[in-house]
Amino acid sequence: MREINVQLITEKVRALSMDANTDLGEDVLQAFDRAMEKEQSPLGIEILKELKENARIAREEKVAICQDTGFAVIFLEVGQDVHLVGGDLKEAVFEGVRQGYRDGYLRKSICHPFTRVNTGDNTPAIVHIDIVPGDKVKITVAPKGGGSENMSRVVMLTPSDGVEGIKRFVVQRIKESGSNPCPPTIVGIGIGGTLEEAALLAKKSLLRPLGSRNPDPELDRLEAEILDEVNRLGIGPQGLGGRTTSLAVHILMMPCHIASLPLAVNIQCHVQRHKEAVI
Ligand code: SF4
Repeated sequence: MREINVQLITEKVRALSMDANTDLGEDVLQAFDRAMEKEQSPLGIEILKELKENARIAREEKVAICQDTGFAVIFLEVGQDVHLVGGDLKEAVFEGVRQGYRDGYLRKSICHPFTRVNTGDNTPAIVHIDIVPGDKVKITVAPKGGGSENMSRVVMLTPSDGVEGIKRFVVQRIKESGSNPCPPTIVGIGIGGTLEEAALLAKKSLLRPLGSRNPDPELDRLEAEILDEVNRLGIGPQGLGGRTTSLAVHILMMPCHIASLPLAVNIQCHVQRHKEAVI
């Protein structure tokens, strides 16, 4: 049994919170480049260039990529041979978020749902914990912007809706979202499981590197078909017209109940932030 002090988790979450908010991944920058090659709208190309320039400035000057520094969503994969010592795990994560958002001068965006009074330190964070084989802890910090999260949906389709029903719902969702999720977006889709599991699958699908293929050939095809339809909508970068409405569609799927077909669409804006560390 390997002992890990939760203090170390606080330190990692602090650093990852700042890193995720200021350093956009290479996969996203490369996706901007690919989109520029295909984009036909001059304004769309200009916006994609601006997004790249914005990411460069954020990385070099260590400032937030976007003013919306998001809800801190943390995925923890905890090895079953790890003994966590030194305090409460979730509190250690919250403390890392607190310190990261304070020291990185990141906007605090979390408030009471009724009074709208800000909690003041960007906590609580959303913490998803999976127990996995091994003696390591993997931490992924994925700040989620409010604009794109607001456009996300979970729906319980009927089995007879099938694949065509899934495609219809997703494309309609992107159409209705228009410029609100700050396109170009990444469309995370969770299919199957239960209501809450579909939502989690959709969110986890966003962690896959942009430009990578779905290992399931059927889902890989479906991703390409949906992306093609979405990019025919003409919404374009920042909603000002063009082909680049979404950079990618990612799908995760699992079996579901014979009576249902859960579907979740988690839309991610172009600020596709997530950083990870393994202890
Ligand atoms: S949706 Fe994304 S790009 Fe738009 S304001 Fe929020 S974090 Fe920024």
